[in-house]
Amino acid sequence: TKTSSSNFIKHIVAEDLASGNTKEVVTRFPPEPNGYLHIGHAKSICLNFELADEFKGRTNLRFDDTNPVKEDVEYVESIKRDVAWLGFEWDGLFFASDYFGEMYERALVLIRKGLAYVDDQTADQIRETRGTLTEPGKESPSRGRSAIENEDLFRRMKDGEFKDGEKVLRAKIDMASPNVNMRDPVIYRIVHAHHHNTGDQWCIYPMYAFAHPLEDAIEGVTHSICTLEFEDQRPFYDWVVRECEMPWVPRQYEFARLNMTNTVMSKRKLKLLVDEKAVDGWDDPRMPTISGLRRKGYTPEAIRAFCREIGVTKSYGIVDERMLEHFIREDLKLKALRTMAVISPLKVVITNYPEGQTEWLEAENNSENPEMGNRQIPFSREIYIEQDDFMENPPAKYFRLFPGNEVRLKHAYFIKCEEAIKDSDGNVIELRCTYDPETKSGSGFTGRKVKGTIHWVEASNAVPAEFRLYEPLINDDSEDDGNGSFLQHLNPNSLETLQGFVEPAMKEAPGGEKFQFFRHGYFNVDPKDTTPDKPVFNRIVSLKSSFDI
Ligand code: ATP
Ligand code: MG
Ligand code: MG
Repeated sequence: TKTSSSNFIKHIVAEDLASGNTKEVVTRFPPEPNGYLHIGHAKSICLNFELADEFKGRTNLRFDDTNPVKEDVEYVESIKRDVAWLGFEWDGLFFASDYFGEMYERALVLIRKGLAYVDDQTADQIRETRGTLTEPGKESPSRGRSAIENEDLFRRMKDGEFKDGEKVLRAKIDMASPNVNMRDPVIYRIVHAHHHNTGDQWCIYPMYAFAHPLEDAIEGVTHSICTLEFEDQRPFYDWVVRECEMPWVPRQYEFARLNMTNTVMSKRKLKLLVDEKAVDGWDDPRMPTISGLRRKGYTPEAIRAFCREIGVTKSYGIVDERMLEHFIREDLKLKALRTMAVISPLKVVITNYPEGQTEWLEAENNSENPEMGNRQIPFSREIYIEQDDFMENPPAKYFRLFPGNEVRLKHAYFIKCEEAIKDSDGNVIELRCTYDPETKSGSGFTGRKVKGTIHWVEASNAVPAEFRLYEPLINDDSEDDGNGSFLQHLNPNSLETLQGFVEPAMKEAPGGEKFQFFRHGYFNVDPKDTTPDKPVFNRIVSLKSSFDI
């Protein structure tokens, strides 16, 4: 695989190795287990793992589980599964919560140096006295507490003497700093909640901005890569490592997060979609989660190629979702079996074909990849075609079936439409056609030409199947007030379910197998809802798009 495309972080690592500043590169992917991973996380996963791989270093998978209220083992398990599925092997598997003991000790180091204090103010008071970009913050009345008093209060916080929110521990830095993040940020808070890993052992929890640099330092991370929102946190990151006297000094680097058109990229919103049952769980194929993309039919290869193509920069941008689609087409083009499926069936009776006879025709499995060989498909007097491959009164340049017109059936014969049968409401429910035995595919027939080729499935052997076609759940112009109002503006056509037929050979296709259906696009056998009697196919992507890379 191609991993050599360059990015600015790679240059930094290469220079650090060359200068001897870094002996071995160590990165980490640090998800908070409060939801399933999405395609944005894939960008960070690929960056961290491929960087370490390229320079023969190591990457840890570390769960940043410092917020007991939102975290769950279900999320931990799904994240491990998704990272492994993408094809990456982590070196260490760690939990931030494993370091709670050490983090507590490091907070005591700050307290003893006079660099942290217990504050009695409420969260609101702390927020209100933080100041603004142009105005300095106000010092807390608790700021002058002695180290001894602070140490005693912090211990009592840990021992459960106080209620949630009654006290916090704050770093003592500079309430007038031009960087608001340096105005005595909160580093510990009281939360009486059960933690998925440490149970009821703790009732104080470190804040992310304090915990993260310590986690990196404890693990010997060399290059701690995060998204641009954390750029203003870097001075505090360095302060924590230095003042807590960590023996290892990691460095933080920031890159622009992935944004994509018509795609929700926030775990909070994705969780709302799941909780409100707007989708069929985190792995609904309409979700931009890794598990949703997998169930839809994306491959790890396509996702990794996409991440390589979008690259790593420091500038904000929005990637066209059709770019991701481009890479799954590329990946499946030569791999997927090309077969025929009718998703909106219309019965056709071939009146001059002998009754009770079935012949088996040879069909190539992939016209662009002869190595995939051939298969046999049945043909007989009754077949299904698509409803919209027939029009009674066609417009100009309609080359498919209409009364009197002749088309080619892919892999079979020319047929000519003789008559359309209607129900009492005037709907066409069946076609009567004739075929010409001379025109068999592969026979070398050149007697006359037809302009249309359509697909079909033989009726008596056809396997009933369900087809699920997708559109974006949310469009970029959907209104959102930031409080979940986007749930009221979901695309009502995001899922279309159709009942049709596939070739008999596809009856036993296992969940996760991918096909290219002639003229319809790429489909994946749904691993959850497929039954032995009825396969369910999720459309991954249509065949063509106007999008160019
Ligand atoms: P969300 O806002 O969706 O909840 P998050 O950043 O809070 O995402 P984390 O679990 O903290 O989610 O993320 C783990 C890692 O993935 C972090 O290093 C984060 O920077 C990175 N990451 C998250 N979203 C994106 C994105 N859209 N593009 C690139 N990296 C991302
Ligand atoms: Mg986060
Ligand atoms: Mg988050």
